[in-house]
Amino acid sequence: MADRVYNFSPGPATLPLEVLKTASKDIVNFKETGIGLIEISHRSREFMEVAENTESLVRELLEVPDNYKVLFLQGGASSQFFMIPMNLLGDGKKASYLNTGTWAKKAIKEAQLFGNIDVAYSSEDSTFDHVPKDGDYSVANDSEYLYFVSNNTIYGTQFSSMPQSEKMLVCDMSSDILSKKIDVSRFGLIFAGAQKNLGPAGVTLVIIRDDLLDRTPAKTPTMLTYKTHAEKGSMFNTPPCFPIYVMGEVLKWLKRMGGVEVIEKYNREKAALVYEQIDSTDYYRAHARDDSRSVMNITFNLPTAELEAKFIAEAATIGLNGLKGHRSIGGCRASIYNAFPKEGIDKLVTFMREFEQNNPA
Ligand SMILES: *Cc1c(COP(=O)(O)O)cnc(C)c1O
Repeated sequence: MADRVYNFSPGPATLPLEVLKTASKDIVNFKETGIGLIEISHRSREFMEVAENTESLVRELLEVPDNYKVLFLQGGASSQFFMIPMNLLGDGKKASYLNTGTWAKKAIKEAQLFGNIDVAYSSEDSTFDHVPKDGDYSVANDSEYLYFVSNNTIYGTQFSSMPQSEKMLVCDMSSDILSKKIDVSRFGLIFAGAQKNLGPAGVTLVIIRDDLLDRTPAKTPTMLTYKTHAEKGSMFNTPPCFPIYVMGEVLKWLKRMGGVEVIEKYNREKAALVYEQIDSTDYYRAHARDDSRSVMNITFNLPTAELEAKFIAEAATIGLNGLKGHRSIGGCRASIYNAFPKEGIDKLVTFMREFEQNNPA
């Protein structure tokens, strides 16, 4: 296929075309140095500027308070599942977790290796079709933190507002970071794998309140200690240079778009168009309960699995790619992160209408 398609992939996910074009030029010759971006020393002035620029854009766009460190780590979001309890829970300490999907469940499993884990809420019995409201659970008094996943990528559910707990919040924002305004000061730690809303796979953004850096038990390996990376500006060892650079370009793009408030509105408009189409007929059924619907990942079913397979295959032939749901719930999923253009949504909605007419249940 000669042209780019609309890519609904859940992650790695679509990136702004202008970012890809700039990156492909810089890979060959970065800023007229005659050296490609991925060949340059991470200690060079040129790369240090790239890393500083990416960090300052994270701080500016998310309004990160000064008492927080911004780290660029490796090992994916999944490594944070163990790094968090390893660093923040000493022996016998407790933390509360909200089990709202696959990623939360995996984090709970790892946390149990390090501490006493209180699963304060679980929506597993209803195939993770919703996230809890504040009154639905209580957090153990002696918990060090309340852990939750702000957007459940696989099930298509999202917290529309952050839990109002007095406990320090720790959040996996891998699939909705920078898609809407948040108050960072309510969190002890926020992390996000880059490959949904920030850039390519290979870097994990961690935002950590600086007083937490001294909690790490002494026998923690150096590379797995947050303070190691905080003290060295994420340059203790070779950082993931290319993903950090692309993240910087994505953030510049986001700033040109008007920043988080503008993208939040755009994201809501995009998601509303798809949900309106789903709600306008019985043919399509949303997986998520109304009050928990995600603006980033829209999960839905057709009347039968056969129709779903046909829907996904036919969509791909007209340039609507990656609509297959995750293997754990099946069905369809449209992942429409910040960089997904509204034109692709219009095309999807038209296709949904036509498919229903041509393929009665
Ligand atoms: C994709 C995803 C992960 C896993 O990220 P990796 O970088 O592959 O480890 C974790 N949490 C959420 C919410 C995700 O969407």
